[in-house]
Amino acid sequence: MDGSQLLVVAIDGPAGSGKSTVARRLAQALEVEYLDTGAMYRAVTFAVLSRGVEPTDDALVADIARSMELTMAADGTVIVDGVDATTQIRGPEVTRAVSTVAANVEVRRELVSRQREWTRRRGGGVLEGRDIGTVVFPDATLKIYLSASPEVRAARRAQEVTDLSYDAVAADLARRDALDAGRQHDPLRRADGAVEVDTSHLTIDEVVALLVAELDGSANA
Ligand code: C5P
Repeated sequence: MDGSQLLVVAIDGPAGSGKSTVARRLAQALEVEYLDTGAMYRAVTFAVLSRGVEPTDDALVADIARSMELTMAADGTVIVDGVDATTQIRGPEVTRAVSTVAANVEVRRELVSRQREWTRRRGGGVLEGRDIGTVVFPDATLKIYLSASPEVRAARRAQEVTDLSYDAVAADLARRDALDAGRQHDPLRRADGAVEVDTSHLTIDEVVALLVAELDGSANA
């Protein structure tokens, strides 16, 4: 599918760069739906761990990704094979294993296909993740790469995750950054033509306003 006929905003960046909040708010402003693709990789990881499968067992993990029933509701609820996994996909077990599952090329193939289908059914949307502008929608209407310093990103995550210390959160982010940027298939990188925004010293409102202005600019270009 070609993203150029749809209104698609692709937002990529590392954990804690502000992607989810910015993507959700931008989708509201544009009156379109929002897809958190990281939650989809987390949902596969949840299904894998629930079945007692090793995240490194590539063949079994790929089978689970292909066969699982996954509902990404508009209110952020994530249903995995009929079970509400919204809270558990954010837990430490899933967070520890998700980058291993996300490095599985067959899992990526399956989820990219589901993400394109999700977007086609809605006539567009705001999607956020690690490979949206590079792989899922290289022809998106607008491609954004959000960044922030490692300290700011860790501080943001530490506020969300109340049961872990700042140091533990910072170490986990550094580990996931290395895996996500260093993996063989679809590593995290800025897409060609993506607008890079360093959110370290910007408020959410400022980032959203900047992106709306970019979108207006690209519509008038
Ligand atoms: O965005 P979030 O931190 O919830 O993503 C969890 C993990 O899912 C990332 O660390 C990355 O390994 C993986 N991911 C990915 N491609 C995406 C979105 C997330 O590989 N498009």
